[in-house]
Amino acid sequence: MSKEKSLAEKMKLPWKKMPIAGIMFEPGSTVEYRTGEWRIEKKPAINQDKCIRCFICWIVCPDVSITRQPKPYKNYTESVEVDYYHCKGCGICAAECPVDAIEMVEESKVVP
Ligand code: SF4
Ligand code: SF4
Repeated sequence: MSKEKSLAEKMKLPWKKMPIAGIMFEPGSTVEYRTGEWRIEKKPAINQDKCIRCFICWIVCPDVSITRQPKPYKNYTESVEVDYYHCKGCGICAAECPVDAIEMVEESKVVP
């Protein structure tokens, strides 16, 4: 039997009094779920030298997994990075990047 407490136990409710359907008790809590861990094939790798900081990838990512970091790089004030904990590896960012700065690489590859 699982050591995890069921929602009924956490809420201290008998199951018959549980609300029907899912209810969010803490807004924004989905960030805690590392959905990127389900990714099985490829992940995006951003070449900071090629990137022109147009932020198209940041706009089009359906999982809000492209992040803008306040890390100066050469003439830029920001770096564009991937949140691998939530990226699902769909490849939209790589397809939309106008300068081919994003490459979809094998999951096992270490990205600097
Ligand atoms: S779309 Fe390409 S060039 Fe634009 S910010 Fe993203 S990685 Fe950089
Ligand atoms: S591969 Fe898909 S989910 Fe991952 S950063 Fe690119 S657009 Fe977002």
